[in-house]
Amino acid sequence: MNRDKLRRILAFIIAMIMLTGILASTISVVFGATTFDEEVEDLLLLIKESNQTAEEKRELAKSILKEIENIDKEISEINDKIRVYNEDLTETRILLKAAQEELDQAVADRARYQKLLEERLAVMYMYGDVGYLEILFGSESLTDLITRINMVRSIAKYDDEIKDTLVEIEEKIEKKRDEIAAKEAKIEDLISSLEAENKKLEKKKASKNVLYQEARSDAAMYDALTQTLQEDLQALYKEAGGDYTSTSMGNDIYNLLWPTPGYRYITDEYGMRWHPIHGGNRMHYGLDIGAPTNAKIVAPGNGYVSYAQYHWSFGNCIKLEIGTYNGDSYQLLFAHANKLLVKEGDFVNRGDVIAYVGSTGDSNGPHLHLELRKNGNRIDPGTLFDY
Ligand SMILES: [Zn+2]
Repeated sequence: MNRDKLRRILAFIIAMIMLTGILASTISVVFGATTFDEEVEDLLLLIKESNQTAEEKRELAKSILKEIENIDKEISEINDKIRVYNEDLTETRILLKAAQEELDQAVADRARYQKLLEERLAVMYMYGDVGYLEILFGSESLTDLITRINMVRSIAKYDDEIKDTLVEIEEKIEKKRDEIAAKEAKIEDLISSLEAENKKLEKKKASKNVLYQEARSDAAMYDALTQTLQEDLQALYKEAGGDYTSTSMGNDIYNLLWPTPGYRYITDEYGMRWHPIHGGNRMHYGLDIGAPTNAKIVAPGNGYVSYAQYHWSFGNCIKLEIGTYNGDSYQLLFAHANKLLVKEGDFVNRGDVIAYVGSTGDSNGPHLHLELRKNGNRIDPGTLFDY
């Protein structure tokens, strides 16, 4: 077993484990594939699956990212709410402080008044020369005494009333303060529950981030696997030395891609025509497709680049082997390119951009001159391409 073969088998095993997770089936696939076509078929299948999985992982990463963005939006909405509530809280605390100060003042007022009353009564009893007694002792007659008693009563009542009023004021302020304090507690509760919600969301975001990174690194892993498998496929083709069928290359030659996506206008068909540069009736061996400079030229099928050079007449030119079909070999030629993106010996996949449209070589304007060769003979590209 040579090194290349061993490498391929290892790639198979890794690919199968990654794609299916089942080692048993891996071994049967690896050792089951014996012929060139079987090996190519297995590789093409693995490449397809690996590509598909990479795409799925990328889609997954994209959807997780969307979720993360939504969580971020939620978090910032909650933060906005918290900000508003905090402003509310600051205001409420200012009000609470003012109410408390008012209450302290009322309590102090009442206490001072009470003390004043107590002092007055004490002094009255001790010295009898102030307050109610003085008024009473100053009576000049019984009538006067009664009048004065009534007066003292109303003064005492008045004192009590003032005391009651002060108590009422104090109670009212206290009630107001308690209401504000309750509001403060409510806002604090709201803020802390919002903060708890945010914490939960941050946690959720962190775990989504992990999943996002995983999906991305999975996608990168599958991309790397695809790359390795494609290199293996190319090595396999190289080993085969050009002797491969279009089927083994993964081509359905009757289902090739149009080489210039978006440009299908035929400026010159295959057949006899008046030559635009050299004059005279000449055979035109290809199909001219009108397309602007630097329009993409894609590989119509999987293929081996057997020629990629500047040619005096074809300009920048690519020959692509797309394999044999029913014993006939097929080759595509792309001429007058502005720029070539592949080199001889490259294997390209169906749909890969291989060159850009140009007007190099014998050409009088940007276009793609496409030729189809069957066993080396130029035939009408319309045999394989619908136009
Ligand atoms: Zn042409």
